[in-house]
Amino acid sequence: MRKRCEVDMRMRNPKYMNDEINNCEFLLTDKLFDNSNPICMEVGMGKGDFLLNMAINNPNINYIGVEKYSSVASVAIHKIKEYELSNIKIFIGDILNIPEYIFHKIDIIYLNFSDPWPKKRHAKRRLTHESFLTFYNNLFKNKCHIIMKTDNDDLYEFSKESFINFGYKINKDIKDLHKENIFNIETEYEKKFSSLGFTIKYLDVEKDNL
Ligand code: SAH
Repeated sequence: MRKRCEVDMRMRNPKYMNDEINNCEFLLTDKLFDNSNPICMEVGMGKGDFLLNMAINNPNINYIGVEKYSSVASVAIHKIKEYELSNIKIFIGDILNIPEYIFHKIDIIYLNFSDPWPKKRHAKRRLTHESFLTFYNNLFKNKCHIIMKTDNDDLYEFSKESFINFGYKINKDIKDLHKENIFNIETEYEKKFSSLGFTIKYLDVEKDNL
């Protein structure tokens, strides 16, 4: 087995990163999945731990991971390919550029530890800003269903207000997820921030797609 530092060095090499992406057999294409199982999407999957473990735990659900940075996505691809799963696809790019063949196919969107963009003038970049919620309407099949987790109080408050103003109703609003007895797959950021003492906030919201 290769030593960890050797793998890390290879992951930082742009050629290796490109090879990883070019040889990836589960990049998103218009063929999608060869079954009609529900499709869930994580926007901003980072290094892919959540997506991978969700897909392993729920073989009857399909998962699309979206990540705008190829350097980060290539790390996720490297991990996922070890498992030969048929229920994962990856899209490398901004969610706003996702191909239209995905429109009206998605059951749940997961937003895990999205960038908080603390400055007010950057509020439009938050993935729960009204402009993104408007875009997500295109993606959802019937119901619009979003599940988010964050360590960031301001993003949590902003998102809750944004969801409500947009017509979402709150199914679950949890202030300290790790104190609750619910099934939870941790993300990389979640492990990091909870080990630093941050509580994890959780919102599950839903509305009809009118
Ligand atoms: N979900 C992971 C990573 C969180 S960091 C975890 O919880 O560990 C947020 C990630 O979202 C970053 O990797 C960032 O590149 C990605 N991201 C931010 N805006 C995006 C967008 N518009 N489209 C796709 N990915 C985005």
